[in-house]
Amino acid sequence: MSTKDYLEKDYYAVLGVPKTATAEEIKKAYRKLARQYHPDTNQGDATKETKFKEVSEAYDVLSDSKRRKEYDEARTLFGSGVGGQRPGGGGFPFDFGDLFGGTSQQTGQSGSAGERLGDLFGGLFNRGGGAGRTTGATTRPRRGQDVESEVTLTFTEAVEGTTVSLRLTSSAACTACSGTGAKAGTTPRVCPTCEGTGAASRNLGNFAFSEPCRDCKGRGLIVDDPCPVCEGSGRAKSTRTIQARIPAGVADGQRVKLKGKGAPGENGGPAGDLYIQTNVKPHAVFGRAGDNLTITVPVTFTEAALGAEIKVPILKGMPVTLRIPAGTPNGRTFRVRGRGVARKDGTKGDLLASVEVVVPKTLDDKSRELLNEFNTAHTSEDPRAELIQRARSE
Ligand SMILES: [Zn+2]
Ligand SMILES: [Zn+2]
Repeated sequence: MSTKDYLEKDYYAVLGVPKTATAEEIKKAYRKLARQYHPDTNQGDATKETKFKEVSEAYDVLSDSKRRKEYDEARTLFGSGVGGQRPGGGGFPFDFGDLFGGTSQQTGQSGSAGERLGDLFGGLFNRGGGAGRTTGATTRPRRGQDVESEVTLTFTEAVEGTTVSLRLTSSAACTACSGTGAKAGTTPRVCPTCEGTGAASRNLGNFAFSEPCRDCKGRGLIVDDPCPVCEGSGRAKSTRTIQARIPAGVADGQRVKLKGKGAPGENGGPAGDLYIQTNVKPHAVFGRAGDNLTITVPVTFTEAALGAEIKVPILKGMPVTLRIPAGTPNGRTFRVRGRGVARKDGTKGDLLASVEVVVPKTLDDKSRELLNEFNTAHTSEDPRAELIQRARSE
């Protein structure tokens, strides 16, 4: 936060308190608003999240008597409510943007003021068993990471759904120090220099502005005795094996989302999601066309010509009987209802069976005799007559 922020933002208005509000009144107003806008209770609502950050930032300044004094002084000195005014735009002597490098800098590696106050919020309400900690910095509810994984399924597993065992590696709070970064048995202490705010004020003549506290590197906490397992980072790689249910009907290359199966959340935060990329092996006999299974079924010339009841294999279970009518052309597709891929609504797609006329490679004497007889009887129909006709007419 810079003096520019101080001049542009009316923290009293954000919290809805008068300039004369007591520390207690400010705290009360903040708690009420923080509860109202907290990201945990407003999943995915960006407007409320922004509001929460604004409220947090306002409280960050106004709850700290030293910073509140700086804020009041800065606004008294240059007039309040000057937000957006540029030099020459009405009583504002110069451009603070130039003076402070154009942008308002965030303070420190622990994130924005809003995030840090999220920490405090976590501490205030002792979420997720953070009670008794020196500070809220590590007790803020944190959503677990999303995790990506990949799995190869057989064709049948993809159609019917299956449970796969997955080994997942993700970043989690170091178990040795519960994410505090402090050696077991010790606790990080609030940085005395910045009193836990992570920000230090520097006076430049009449200006006071904020920069990351040098003693705690903006974290607000000091770890005297770092955790040997995570070397003070508070983070660790965790490997776990989970059983993931792959729903019926996934396709090759599909990304399956399993909500809440990602890395566990911390301090009561929700778990992340797991995304599984599915690779499906082809089947020797069956193919897929969306919710339908496909198969090519050989039939003899006589079956196609005379009509027949033929056996058609299905993916699981005994073959079903398919009646093909007399005069079935080669390549015709028949629909066997309900023998396809399971859909989300519990119904199933169909099996699309295409017939392929096969010609006998060898003939016994009797068959040859009968076919010759058929050929003689069938002279009325020349299958190429129309073809030749059309070729000429072009
Ligand atoms: Zn550790
Ligand atoms: Zn500090």
